[in-house]
Order: sequence, then structure tokens, then C-alpha cells
Amino acid sequence: MSERYASLDAYTPGEQPTDMQYLKLNTNESPYPPSDGVLAAISGEDMKALRLYPDPDCTQLKDALAAYHGVGRENIFVSNGSDDILNFSFAAFTKVGKKAYFADITYGFYKVFSALHGIEYETIPLTSELSIRPEDYMGRHGLIVIANPNAPTGKRLDVAKIEEIACSCPDSVVLVDEAYVDFGSQSCISLTKKYDNVLVVRTYSKSRSMAGARLGYAIGEKELISDLEKIKFSTNPYSVNRLTMKAGVAALKDNDYYEKNCQRIIEAREYTEKQLNALGFEVIPSWANFVFARKDGYDGQMLYSKLKENGILVRHFGDERIADYIRITIGTMHDMEHFISVLKEITEKNDEIR
Ligand code: PMP
Repeated sequence: MSERYASLDAYTPGEQPTDMQYLKLNTNESPYPPSDGVLAAISGEDMKALRLYPDPDCTQLKDALAAYHGVGRENIFVSNGSDDILNFSFAAFTKVGKKAYFADITYGFYKVFSALHGIEYETIPLTSELSIRPEDYMGRHGLIVIANPNAPTGKRLDVAKIEEIACSCPDSVVLVDEAYVDFGSQSCISLTKKYDNVLVVRTYSKSRSMAGARLGYAIGEKELISDLEKIKFSTNPYSVNRLTMKAGVAALKDNDYYEKNCQRIIEAREYTEKQLNALGFEVIPSWANFVFARKDGYDGQMLYSKLKENGILVRHFGDERIADYIRITIGTMHDMEHFISVLKEITEKNDEIR
């Protein structure tokens, strides 16, 4: 292997097990299927058309997204999941001698992309309450990446604070990763119309129930978008396949369905937070489709293992600052009732022994 990549510490995705059926609360997928419109959008004819390459410019999908968000087609970039777009952004918007800046506790892929592209990065510690302090990002020169809401904490930053950051760093691209924005938070898309250095990255994987289709998009000023196109056309111009492209357009027409699902997830999240509190867990109030929780005297790895033994997958991260937390994806109300009853049994048994 090339020396450049030999020491790369690759990203570890959440488990996608094949050994048995688990209740999957580990990778922030939606518990609901895509809308009827999406299911109906893909026909036998589309299957036959798979012999042909897809439109590398993704014209129909871009037009649909542009109309949906009230921006121009030239302001939209689409690719194979938002991870693809993050990868391209780390390649495109960093310069020799400049760093990438992101929180010490955030989406683990940011570090991997920095290393992949040989970019120096600086992690900015969250406060003791695991919040982002916007002042820490102001006046930086490089690439600033903020997941908003943040993962795995579920905390959000006000749009006004991100605007202050963008204003304070005119020569930096401020990338706002809005993977989890649809669960009650506020979008920074309005800032992309005001500032040429703000790029918002979105995904169909969470609120739009299409993690398996791999579709993400970015919104930003024309030049940022054409920079991303240059990287895409230098790697894989056909990164969005025909079926996904059709599904992506159809999903935008069924907005009511997806909004209703987000509302149901928010309700199940509130239920889960309350029940976890009742079991003695500390829960960070979340704006995402997951919650991050810990309990005094409990190790996150042990909770993860006990839940797995009982057929429930959650996510545990080894980083020292958050080693006692588990991240629980919010499923249906029924899923969460089951999760809480299993967790209650585990903690009651354990508390008895102690
Ligand atoms: N950003 C964040 C913060 C995420 O948690 C994820 C999901 N792992 C992604 C981006 C990537 O999502 P996808 O590639 O499925 O669009």
C-alpha cells in the first residue's frame, strides 16, 4: 500500500449485523419506510434502464431540490451520501498551511477525512457540558466543520452563532453538517444565501428514510458547488445511481409524510428521555433522532454489551470523555418501550448486585 495511506486509521461504521435480528438503535436510521410515492416511483422500466449510466449532472434531482429549498440549481451539489460530500469538502476547501477545525467530540469521520487528505486538524474541546463554544471558532483560517445538531451529543447551536462564526472567518469555509436538522432544529440554509463561505450539507439517510439508497446534498454559493463538482468529476461522476435519483425526487413530493414521521420520532424521543431519567440516567436534551445518556457507576461498554445480549444494538464510543455514555437511536414508540423495559431489567439486576 502507498506509504501515504498505510497508517490511516479508518472510520468504524456502526454495526450492520447479519447474524440475527436485532432492534437496531445504533446507526440513527429511520424506523419508518420511505413514502408510498418513493416506492411507486421505481418501476420495472427503471430497472431495465439500469443498463444505462445515470445523468452525471443529476439535473432532475438538483432542480427538485433547488425548488424545494428556494435556491438555484447552481447552488446544489448531490452525491452518494453526505459522507461523500464531506470527503470532497475536506479535499476542496483546505489549503497547505491551513487547518481543519472541529469539536473534540463530534462525527468521527472528520478526523479520518483530514488524515486521508493529509490535512492538519485541530480539535476544539467542547465545554464540560459538552457544548460548542462559538467563540472558539471565530477568526480561524482554514476549514471549520460544525455538525448541527452535533453527534453524538444531540446538542444544537443557534443559527445566529453560526452566522457570527461565518462573519468572523471570511477566508474560511464554514461547513454545517445538518444530518440531524429535521428533528426540531433550525437550518443554516438561509446563511448560504447571505454568505459565500457557508456550505450546508444534508442527507436523505435520517429523516427521509433512505440510508440504504445513499444520497446526500450540499447547498452553497455557486463557486463552492463548482469546486465540489470538480472533485466529483475527478473521482466518480456517476456517484448517484438511477434508482436513488428517482427516489430522491419522489421523496420531496411527500414532505407531509416525512414531517409526520419526524414528529413521531420527537415524541418517542421525549418519552425515552423521561423514562431514562426515571431509571437514574443523565440524558443530554437532544435535537436529533438519538439521545446520549449515562448513569453513575455504569460503564458505557458494559451497557452496550448487556443490551446486545438482549437483542438491542446501541452505539458506544471509546473516547475517554464520553466512555460512560451510550448513544441510543430513537425508533418507534413501540421500539422505545421495549428498549426501556430491557434497560430497566438490566439496571435493576445490576443495582441489586451492587
Ligand atoms: N454527518 C453526520 C453527523 C452523521 O452522523 C452521519 C451518519 N453517520 C453522516 C454525516 C453521514 O450520513 P450519510 O453518508 O448516510 O448521508
